[in-house]
Amino acid sequence: MTTRNLVAALSTVSAAALLSACATTPGGTAMTAPAAASQATAIPEGTGYFAADSTLPFLAPDFTKISEDDYVPAFKQGMAINKAEVAQIIANPEAPTFENTIVALEKSGRMLGRVARVFYALTGSNTNDRLDAIDTEISPELSAHSDSITLNPELFARVKAVYDSRASLGLSVEESRLLEETYKEMVHAGALLTEAEREQVKAINSELSTLTTEFSQKLRTATNAQPLIVDTAEQLAGLSDADIKAAADLATEKGFPGKYAIALQNTTQQPLLPTLENRATREALFKLSYNRADGANPEYDTRLLLARIAALRAQKAALFGEADWASYAMYDRMAKTPETALNFMQQMVPALAATQRREAALLTQAIAAEGGDYAVQPWDWYRYANQIKAERYDLDEDAVMEYFQLEKVLEDGVFYMANKLYGLDFERRTDIPTYHPDVWTYTVFDADGSELGLFYFDPFQRPSKRGGAWMSNFVEQSDLWGTQPVIYNVLNIPKAAPGEAQLVSFDNVNTIFHEFGHALHGFFADQKFESLSGTATARDFVEYPSQVHEMWATWPEVLQNYAKHYQTGETIPMELVEKIEAASKFNQGYDFGEVVAAALLDMKWAALTPQEAAAIDTPAEVDAFERRSLEELGLEIDLVPPRYRSTYFNHIFSDPAGYSAGYYSYLWTEMLDRDSRKWFRENGGLTRANGDHYRQTVLSRGGTMDYFEMFENFAGRQPNVQPMLEARGLAGQSDMVDTEASDGKLPPRSVD
Ligand SMILES: [Zn+2]
Repeated sequence: MTTRNLVAALSTVSAAALLSACATTPGGTAMTAPAAASQATAIPEGTGYFAADSTLPFLAPDFTKISEDDYVPAFKQGMAINKAEVAQIIANPEAPTFENTIVALEKSGRMLGRVARVFYALTGSNTNDRLDAIDTEISPELSAHSDSITLNPELFARVKAVYDSRASLGLSVEESRLLEETYKEMVHAGALLTEAEREQVKAINSELSTLTTEFSQKLRTATNAQPLIVDTAEQLAGLSDADIKAAADLATEKGFPGKYAIALQNTTQQPLLPTLENRATREALFKLSYNRADGANPEYDTRLLLARIAALRAQKAALFGEADWASYAMYDRMAKTPETALNFMQQMVPALAATQRREAALLTQAIAAEGGDYAVQPWDWYRYANQIKAERYDLDEDAVMEYFQLEKVLEDGVFYMANKLYGLDFERRTDIPTYHPDVWTYTVFDADGSELGLFYFDPFQRPSKRGGAWMSNFVEQSDLWGTQPVIYNVLNIPKAAPGEAQLVSFDNVNTIFHEFGHALHGFFADQKFESLSGTATARDFVEYPSQVHEMWATWPEVLQNYAKHYQTGETIPMELVEKIEAASKFNQGYDFGEVVAAALLDMKWAALTPQEAAAIDTPAEVDAFERRSLEELGLEIDLVPPRYRSTYFNHIFSDPAGYSAGYYSYLWTEMLDRDSRKWFRENGGLTRANGDHYRQTVLSRGGTMDYFEMFENFAGRQPNVQPMLEARGLAGQSDMVDTEASDGKLPPRSVD
């Protein structure tokens, strides 16, 4: 499931953001220049565990020596040191050079980076009340610290001086990229604006911050305060006894004793819709969800809020000389412009709309076969789609799991793939301290036998871990520092009872391959600067290498090596694998369609000019804009509405920037992924030559070059959307499924 994609993206992106806060543009000071000059040499000494590099192999964090008392002082000292380092850069009497400004910035913030990497690893995967409280305390300080660097005018003056002379500096490709990124990031924050413009930006940011908080609070209230209430248990026919009991309890809690309540989830479709037999109940539940914040109950109306947010964003973009918010927000993306993202999505619409119509006809037939005399509606969709799926595939997920044992999946599946493609070898270690006894560690050896890095594998669910799966680094690869990558993968696999075989679902098998794809992107990093190293890439690129590696989970040679029945040792039958893959392509008109519609809606809001946005100033205008935007795209929007309507699109309206103009990223990286799988298949599949080529052109490049160029170096051409449509069964067949293309990928049912 693609929940992991977002979490991994957030994790890697925020790690990159953190790095850039601590290293790319570090330092930052409110001191005036003369004061900075006179105190320039006074860089404070750090104390405690994080003051120096670890003494363990690969600089791995020594969890036997880290105490919770270390974090706050280390953060504070780290920020103070960082500020002093920046003051020193500013006060340097020599003219600005690449070395004394850009490299000096890259080198600063070392202690802050060390503590942040360990701390945020733990708040994700093994937190407690104390760590959460520290997080709440320190986050605003870190954010202010980062701003004070990015918006420091004296620092920017030096960066700009280097940037303006870049053509004559004889920089390497990577050095040029670091200079550009540093400069662009500061410009993006407002460094080139006049004082008056900066004041306007500040005012807009402040209003955006208030409005987005208000949006998310109002939406949360609307969602929680409006469960579906029904009078009788008969109206809930089809639900399990446990679900009906939960509905009775919730009704009592909400002040309706004796009735039944179903809580809303924050997506258009609701999880209980497929099991509800009563069509009127289904319709009521769906409509409640769909209309939760659109004025049906005026108290919960978010329309004016979101319209104002869109208008403010457009105004802010205009201050930066950009046509619209999307153009401003996408400055560091692979796709670069909203037109590119929109054109890309529009290429999918004809096939998708046709599939939606075919699927609707099929579902209406299924309804008729059951004696119904109505055409399928969104509230019926999953009930009948699931029925057809069950008839066709008859998949027993528990039986499938018996072929997937965790240790074999990792060591005989994932590691085997990494050996066949890249020549890597792995050795389990027991001498590296970990933050939890369930974390496994391995040394990773390169094809020539040299040590490549250190890998932590943290597979199991526990209450101290947030949901999803992700990858990040304890130590980034960097030639400047002579560091090798120390990387962790975190998953949420239910742990087997003691003495029982540790089996994993097919979905989790894919996740293990996916997260290790991120890990390889980190292990093969070959950069001088850590802020361009490994997965420090664009939001609409970072999920691509990980997604590609999911293809090997079902590659026959790999499967035969790891997918063995836990009792009989028998290899998984290929027919079963084919059935899993075919089932995963089922119902794409809806599963895929609702995501595409949401991504398009996001981009339409973000692509408004200030004039266009200002014209959307009434609730009715918001409705009209949403409908117009979706209809003009040609999707069957009444059958397959977006996964989120504007009024409850939390990803894009609940944060000053958030995922706004970024929801398309999931689709974009899937295009790169599918096209790359096609390349691998056409070029002989699982071979060292193919692996080495991919490593050389993509996995080792970090964020050092243009991503289109990177893709072209790999594939010999620009990316194409067709393989993605084929893989999703959208390339023009006459049924709900195209079983021909076969390298399974689960649909993004939970792109959250
Ligand atoms: Zn991912």
